[in-house]
Amino acid sequence: MRIGRSAGVTDTGRRRLRNEDAFICEPPLFAVADGMGGARAGEIAAGLAAAALEEAGAETRGAEGVAALITEANRRIWERSLTDPETAGMGTTVTAALVDAAAGSIAIGHVGDSRAYLLRGGSIEQLTTDHSLVAELVQSGILTPEEAERHPQRSAITRALGTEPTVDVDAFTITAEPGDVFLLCSDGLSIMVTDEDVAAVIDAAERDPVRAAEGLVAAANARGGEDNVTVVLFEILEADETDEPERLPVDATPEPASEPVQGQIQVEPEEASEAEVSRHGAGPGGRLAALFLIAAVLAIGALVLYWGVTR
Ligand code: MG
Repeated sequence: MRIGRSAGVTDTGRRRLRNEDAFICEPPLFAVADGMGGARAGEIAAGLAAAALEEAGAETRGAEGVAALITEANRRIWERSLTDPETAGMGTTVTAALVDAAAGSIAIGHVGDSRAYLLRGGSIEQLTTDHSLVAELVQSGILTPEEAERHPQRSAITRALGTEPTVDVDAFTITAEPGDVFLLCSDGLSIMVTDEDVAAVIDAAERDPVRAAEGLVAAANARGGEDNVTVVLFEILEADETDEPERLPVDATPEPASEPVQGQIQVEPEEASEAEVSRHGAGPGGRLAALFLIAAVLAIGALVLYWGVTR
């Protein structure tokens, strides 16, 4: 397997003045952090968490590795809060996913209520358990999931990064399958949009993660945008699945440049413009046409030259 396209989008939402969320979308590492604290402290905490993960992410493997990354991020935020009075008490959530393509697995680590979801075979599954007051009340049978969704304390978290010298990290690995789409998000999405609606928006984006991410942020804002919204999406492909737009299933009848083929284009977002070019002209036919054109220009040039010399 390998990582296909990915995208990350963050938005302040409709009610907040500042965005205290941060995200990482740097394959194989993906993460969302939702900061909290007075003044700009939440922003600082989320930023420190993202920076700590980014710094060591490339050399890390497995659930233990991700847990170690998050533990190190906790240490840095805690120490900063001790030396900088303006940031005292700051904290952040973090949910990180690290893809190990060789092992075919995704390591996920988290603290707080930012979530990881898996979309597979048309259904959506929440992979993480919120470290929140309402999640604990649901687990102990005091609240129903529906009551939790409407609870005024639904954003109160019971575990955060940076508020204590040590932190308890939940970390695990998931065996990935080609076609899987993973979503990481802050509670600005999950408190505004139901899981079913999240799945529907991603489905409607036809495997375009940028469209899906923007659609999810728009959905959260359309329902009130009460908090900062951050989403990171990535998909898993077969190892030998190419980015060639011409790729068609073996039993399908090839049709020239038909619309459905576009849904199968698998490229990194930054390569999208290249793929756009390749789809419209640099295929085998396009290349032949270009060679023929160059040959024709050279031949005409030679004729003109010959005509000039012999005249
Ligand atoms: Mg939030």
